[in-house]
Amino acid sequence: MLRHAIRGLRNSRRWISSKNFTSRVGVERAVARESVDCVVIGAGVVGIAVARELALKGREVVVIEFASTFGTGTSSRNSEVIHAGIYYPRNSLKAIFCARGRELLYKYCSEHEVPHKQIGKLIVATRSSEVPKLNDLMIRGNENGVDGLRMLEGFEAMEMEPELQCVRALLSPASGIVDTHSLMLSLVGEAENHRTTFCYNTAVIGGHLEGDHICLHISESKDLENWDRRFPLHPEVILMAKLVVNSAGLSAPALAKRFDGLNSTVIPASHYARGCYFVLSKMKTPPFKHLIYPIPEDGGLGVHVTLDLDGQIKFGPDVEWINGADDISSFLNKFDYSVCAKRVERFYPEIRKYYPNLKDDSLEPGYAGIRPKLSGAQQSAVDFVIQGEDIHGVPGLVNLFGIESPGLTSSMAIAEHIVARYLR
Ligand SMILES: Cc1cc2nc3c(=O)[nH]c(=O)nc-3n(C[C@H](O)[C@H](O)[C@H](O)COP(=O)(O)OP(=O)(O)OC[C@H]3O[C@@H](n4cnc5c(N)ncnc54)[C@H](O)[C@@H]3O)c2cc1C
Repeated sequence: MLRHAIRGLRNSRRWISSKNFTSRVGVERAVARESVDCVVIGAGVVGIAVARELALKGREVVVIEFASTFGTGTSSRNSEVIHAGIYYPRNSLKAIFCARGRELLYKYCSEHEVPHKQIGKLIVATRSSEVPKLNDLMIRGNENGVDGLRMLEGFEAMEMEPELQCVRALLSPASGIVDTHSLMLSLVGEAENHRTTFCYNTAVIGGHLEGDHICLHISESKDLENWDRRFPLHPEVILMAKLVVNSAGLSAPALAKRFDGLNSTVIPASHYARGCYFVLSKMKTPPFKHLIYPIPEDGGLGVHVTLDLDGQIKFGPDVEWINGADDISSFLNKFDYSVCAKRVERFYPEIRKYYPNLKDDSLEPGYAGIRPKLSGAQQSAVDFVIQGEDIHGVPGLVNLFGIESPGLTSSMAIAEHIVARYLR
């Protein structure tokens, strides 16, 4: 069925030949092959943005997505904040793509009627010992070219936000919020209108090199769900492409390790940090109009206030390092996304540092997301990693690793970069 689905993508595509695989009962079976122009693995916001950009350049694109629709991974489990680009080291990919991505995102959302709002953000120091860190953020933001940053005295910020408690605040007018689902829906629609095919319920289970090129092993997702791990997985189709973009999010490094012939020493170690959100029970008027962020903590930006476009307030995400996730679990995306209600006990004191009037029992469990990190607890943050032939020696393969925050903001800039740098 899968073979027919992929074969039916475009009549012009041709079967090339077949490769033999030995099945679990020792029988050799031929696996059909298909050839396409570009393959994107993963229909999260980054993969979708990449597919759209390739399609707008006139390329035929196939997106292979494990889930039954787009955007069910980290892309629907985040704060939906359009970041200004304050936090990241100067000239890092995060700083460059965040600034460019923000610009592209605001323009795209305005032109395509994607709900968004440039509501601005206050990063707050709640005690004087935090003021030097706030000053450092202002310097870094200015170095990164973030427009309009302004240091406010506590009383000025508290005039803007009467429920806020702080001694000083950094105002970032460029920050905003976006309806991520509407954004992805719009990008998918545009990509589809330009010869992109999305194959849902379909997984890349590995690959091998032939000559210099990578051949992807494709299977139906249900084969992975039923996999007992005692036998190797076998593909139903082999897909050959001139350009393959591995945008599999949390699974990207584990998937790259399944590409036979790719030098595994170039694949960075993976770390994962869960972030939970708690939602403020309905209030007649939301207590804040701006995004409110504390000083960043190890592994995250601190339990902050995010508003959605309906005025619903949520707090989060916290940082919980996940230990012992092996390659198979991350390849199969076997992560726990439940929100343990008990974690709320840590939220109240954190939030009350800047929102002292937060009422008891006003927080309800929301949702959780998992950060695809390349550094662990107590280690310095690592930049996005985008690897092409220059790094791993395989022409036409681009691996995206560690696309954590600000990946949503950066998505269209990452897409622009991949097309400019790797499309031949
Ligand atoms: C808690 C949290 C808060 C965040 N807040 C923000 C924010 O406010 N602003 C911001 O800019 N960024 C934020 N981010 C970061 C942002 O959400 C991510 O950078 C972005 O969503 C990553 O998108 P992606 O497409 O790379 O990955 P994903 O959305 O995870 O998509 C990867 C896709 O690949 C698919 N896939 C995996 N393996 C396979 C396979 N073998 N075959 C086929 N398909 C496969 C998955 O099913 C998935 O759909 C946050 C992240 C987290 C965790």
